Amino acid sequence: MTSDRNILDIDFLDKTVRAIAEDISTSPDRGEVSQFLPELAAIDPRQFGLAVVTADGYEAAAGDIDEAFTIQSISKVFALSLALETFGDEVWTRVDREPSGDPFNSITDLERHGGYPRNPFINPGALVIVDMLLDKADGPGPTKFVESFLAEQIGADDFAVDEAIFESEIGLSHTNRALAHLAKSFGNLNHPVDDVIAAYVRQCAIALSCRQLARAGRYLMLERAGAGAATDPSRRRARQARRVASLMLTCGQYDGSGDFAFRVGLPAKSGIAGGLLAIVPNTATIAVWAPGLDANGNSLLGTLALERLAEAMDWSVFGAVERR
Ligand code: GLN
Repeated sequence: MTSDRNILDIDFLDKTVRAIAEDISTSPDRGEVSQFLPELAAIDPRQFGLAVVTADGYEAAAGDIDEAFTIQSISKVFALSLALETFGDEVWTRVDREPSGDPFNSITDLERHGGYPRNPFINPGALVIVDMLLDKADGPGPTKFVESFLAEQIGADDFAVDEAIFESEIGLSHTNRALAHLAKSFGNLNHPVDDVIAAYVRQCAIALSCRQLARAGRYLMLERAGAGAATDPSRRRARQARRVASLMLTCGQYDGSGDFAFRVGLPAKSGIAGGLLAIVPNTATIAVWAPGLDANGNSLLGTLALERLAEAMDWSVFGAVERR
């Protein structure tokens, strides 16, 4: 630890990231890889990657950081950002902002709330967001909104949709189809169910490495906020990003969100392939990948890694223990 906590100690960050990756690589309890798709069930649970990008653009990384994995539900963060940019507060006429306390694909939860999904990070909420984005599609063919948004954020398009996972999930999206039909029966889905499912499954199947994911989340760190006029698009995006981060904190880990906020204290979003994206406002973004999941479907060792990193760096949205 340094005595001057105003300055991010890059050496300490580097050492901490390496030490966490080393320690976690030998952990015997790695959770269970998702059994949802055969392709996910076949992933080697011994893999682990941790990448941090600071506000200055410095990257600290250790483990399998260039190995691509499908971002799955982390794509919901990028889709929501796009919808907010395109439709503004109209988004909230279609989806609520409350934690659900139910699994991410709960049908009863959607029925109980009259087809108005509890938040954009559970599946029915994400399907409604995709439905909104489809209004902007120009013609048939795969929609690439989230891919284009990611390419813009990363500054490169050297990533792809995992076609095998895409095809597999299209064939196995029974619950998501049921959710989409239920939302439609309540009048909260305008496009054909098949189109919504295809676009949603495609964004879930985007494969990124930890390094790319940490770079993609930089706009959520609010690094450019404060510069330029109030109408500057980067400031507008930063204002929306702060709201997206609030939902990541309250809803990002489904019904594990409360425990996650308690242990890690940072806004984050998980995916069923074991990825996690976390934000330290104005300071850093963190991407971690460990395919084994806990009972709520969140990366078991990814959460542990974030907990240790946040503790060591004194990072929390609830303030710093070492006073600045
Ligand atoms: N594609 C998965 C689904 O829709 C994503 C779920 C997740 O990452 N939690 O079921």
